[in-house]
Amino acid sequence: MNATLSYAAFDRTSPFGPFSFVRRDPGALDVQFEILFCGVCHSDLHTARGEWPGTVYPCVPGHEIVGRVTKVGPEVKGFKVGDLAAVGCMVDSCKTCASCQAGFEQYCDNNDITFTYNSVDKHLPGKRTYGGYSSQIVVDERFCLHVPENLDLAAVAPLLCAGITTYSPLKHWGAGHGKKVGVVGLGGLGHMGVKLSHAFGAHTVLFTTSPGKAEDGLRLGADEVVISKDAAAMKKHTASFDMILNTVAASHNLDAYTSLLKRDGTLVLVGMPEHSHPSPDVGNLLHKRRAIAGSMIGGIAETQEMLNFCSQHNIASDIELIPIQKIDEAYERMLKGDVKYRFVIDMASLKA
Ligand code: NAP
Ligand code: ZN
Repeated sequence: MNATLSYAAFDRTSPFGPFSFVRRDPGALDVQFEILFCGVCHSDLHTARGEWPGTVYPCVPGHEIVGRVTKVGPEVKGFKVGDLAAVGCMVDSCKTCASCQAGFEQYCDNNDITFTYNSVDKHLPGKRTYGGYSSQIVVDERFCLHVPENLDLAAVAPLLCAGITTYSPLKHWGAGHGKKVGVVGLGGLGHMGVKLSHAFGAHTVLFTTSPGKAEDGLRLGADEVVISKDAAAMKKHTASFDMILNTVAASHNLDAYTSLLKRDGTLVLVGMPEHSHPSPDVGNLLHKRRAIAGSMIGGIAETQEMLNFCSQHNIASDIELIPIQKIDEAYERMLKGDVKYRFVIDMASLKA
């Protein structure tokens, strides 16, 4: 019996509350660790409030998890008791298909990904996976990440989702010196997108609906900030971007951004709103061979690469630390765009 404390959503609308459950005892290849900090992603809100189909209650969200190892299985090679460890959005996949073998577990060809929460738990029949708003986790070593020691641990937590979800597409679409990259939305993902795009050497332009965030945008690494409601300011950037990374968590018109792409430029969607975006204007796409693409988190090896990159460049999240008891309030503030720039739960508060 591996009793675990947590905070759970019990239905779409009620406030979070305490919930106890049992995690599996660590198997031969498992790492067990005490969760010290867990970031709060907008995906947690989409899931807890049933905005995406398929939420099973009680639901324990949280996929930006860092902590300290308390136990390892006999065949674990990379971790020992006392090490720092981290888990992101996935805890398992088929591991055998071409995508998994190539390090793209997030695009598993067999659609056999076990997400950190709200997935079928392969180890506990009839149960769902429970995430990081909890006291501890047990995870296959192959889905466990090493945490850089030189960064503030609480500020590292959001790298496990917000960090990798922006790092992966920026790398894939070649953000770097000589490239002009836009980042839409200055929230959890967006602020990591700005920091990473800047670190890759791209000319980085932040698009925000919040004039009050302009100064922060520049401080975080943007070369320019555009208030996206200002049509004249938007027009100045027509047909000039190599890539625009869109992190917005709500449905909106994409044409305002596709028209800013130059020939062969790509608008990459990472935000996944409850309601789809209006269908984009096709003429806008074919006139300059522009593309709209999507990207989901990143593979395990790439997540470790991102953590190492952040360690070398001294990059972590700008966070507001909260006790777990303030999770509902944090969700309300997230909906208002009032996050600077990621809430992180201090899991010590769970014992209070
Ligand atoms: P967040 O912290 O709430 O940030 C979203 C930002 O979008 C806001 O801060 C706001 O920035 C902007 N925004 C503009 N209009 C908005 C509106 N009407 N409603 C909400 N936001 C609006 O969210 P996040 O944690 O970064 O997540 C963003 C999205 O990415 C979510 O849909 C989430 O589920 C998704 N996600 C996807 C992946 C993936 O693998 N693709 C991974 C993680 C999360 P301004 O104030 O600057 O305009
Ligand atoms: Zn996330």
